[in-house]
Amino acid sequence: MESYHVKLDTRVRLDKLDPEDSGEHKKGKQLDAMLEKIRLEMDRLQELLYAERKHKVLIVLQAMDTAGKDGTISHVFEGMNPQGVKVASFKAPTTEELDHDFLWRVHKQVPGKGEIVIFNRSHYEDVLVVRVHNLITRDVWLRRYKEINNFEHMLANEGTTILKFFLHITPDEQKQRLQDRLDDPAKHWKFSAADLDERKLWPDYMKAYEDAITATNTAWAPWYIVPANKKWYRNLVVASTIMAALQTFDMHYPESTLDASKIVIE
Ligand code: AMP
Ligand code: MG
Repeated sequence: MESYHVKLDTRVRLDKLDPEDSGEHKKGKQLDAMLEKIRLEMDRLQELLYAERKHKVLIVLQAMDTAGKDGTISHVFEGMNPQGVKVASFKAPTTEELDHDFLWRVHKQVPGKGEIVIFNRSHYEDVLVVRVHNLITRDVWLRRYKEINNFEHMLANEGTTILKFFLHITPDEQKQRLQDRLDDPAKHWKFSAADLDERKLWPDYMKAYEDAITATNTAWAPWYIVPANKKWYRNLVVASTIMAALQTFDMHYPESTLDASKIVIE
């Protein structure tokens, strides 16, 4: 899974990375068993993280429409205790948010001790969608890369572990998924005509993603580019990457100061 980690100081070329990739893995019973094992281990680690109240974990999910941000969140974090896990979704900014700097709404949502926060879109929209639509000039998005790196460095220095995922799909896969949404009335709520406009800007988005990932792939806030045409593989890669990060923490349940033998419950 390490192979999806973007190497430091290398230029990202998305067209060289295959969204169909599924490593050595195949769908089936063995894979289901593996996913189940990972899920149980993640749940165990998350409970420990919550009990210990020491580490903070920030997970950033970025992707084109239909690439599976929502699906990843519901599958990967399924069994976790909702008290310690929060999702923050970032839509087009409100007037109040636009009256502030671009990190204002984001900073309010970062995890506290013992928490995992998942960003469904993030401050990266402020160097992606706004760049593609020419709402800001080149100087501004170039400057924002530095501001993002500094912001994330500060969070890391304050004890936050940051993992950033780009879910990589092909335009053909997106076409199929949009068509599925149209064909199934139960999925109409997910369909947005605006997605078709964004789809036309695919090459511009890929360029913006490549630049942004290259400029903000740091030791303290690494990017992972996840092959996401196959939903089961996308879930496997994201879950195992997060699990591996949680396993590097040396976590313990808080030491008890209770002498249970002296306590009598009447
Ligand atoms: P969705 O995630 O599909 O619900 O869509 C949210 C929409 O909000 C997407 O089209 C994003 O591009 C847009 N969005 C999120 N953050 C920003 C931002 N900072 N500036 C402009 N648009 C944004
Ligand atoms: Mg959408």
